[in-house]
Amino acid sequence: MSNLRFGNNCDIKEDFMTTIMSPRLRYYDNLVLHIPHAGISGLDSTCWIHKLSLLNEVRRWTDWYTDVIFVPDDVTSLKIHSIIATNSRFVLDMERLINDPLEKEGQGIIYTSFSGVHREVDVEEKKRLMIRYTAHQEELKSLLNEHSLLIDCHSFPSELSDVDVCIGVNDDWSRPSDFVIGIVKEGFDRQGYKVRVNEPYSNSIAPVTNFIYSSLMIELNKRIYMNEDTLEVTSGAKLVRNVLRQIYGILINHSELT
Ligand SMILES: [Zn+2]
Repeated sequence: MSNLRFGNNCDIKEDFMTTIMSPRLRYYDNLVLHIPHAGISGLDSTCWIHKLSLLNEVRRWTDWYTDVIFVPDDVTSLKIHSIIATNSRFVLDMERLINDPLEKEGQGIIYTSFSGVHREVDVEEKKRLMIRYTAHQEELKSLLNEHSLLIDCHSFPSELSDVDVCIGVNDDWSRPSDFVIGIVKEGFDRQGYKVRVNEPYSNSIAPVTNFIYSSLMIELNKRIYMNEDTLEVTSGAKLVRNVLRQIYGILINHSELT
């Protein structure tokens, strides 16, 4: 990259000049909440062998209550859309990708193996499930526009990390600015939560469209809002929900020049 020279040894890179000369106003007028792992329906009709063993995995890996905690009461006035998978991830995982790397471990879109428990899926069932998967992805895309922030909403078992809140971002076109990531981080920081970016989880769902938008994942440690033994929600849930509501309010009004 060549440099442009301005007077007293002041070098400015061309790409910086391009930014200065053609500023773009970046703002979010649409928050889209993607909640793929809160549901538990559909398990009865799956063919998991040793279903009782699977139930322990369902207890551990369902993102309990995220469909309530992440969705504020005033979604309409805030221009927030949510897309919630009601089926269990052990039926169909809407977070996985076509040709997902986890496919080879039996944990792609349709799990066939999990912690030593196996599942049989016939051709007809697979076809039926993939139709539902495609419809979910298309609905998600239909909610997005170039001023959207897609928030991928999850939770994780407490024994995996002592981080309270994990923010995940991609290292590509979908990455929000550091300023926006800071808004989310500080929102939780201020309440005393231990927050990390891309730790213990990284990345965020970002389906390809013909325009650019931002995507950010929020993973809550289950200990901050529920009892993982009894699966009961705790008083911490209300606090997390309030913090999220405050963050949404800031993000929806946020604008900056990029
Ligand atoms: Zn999840």
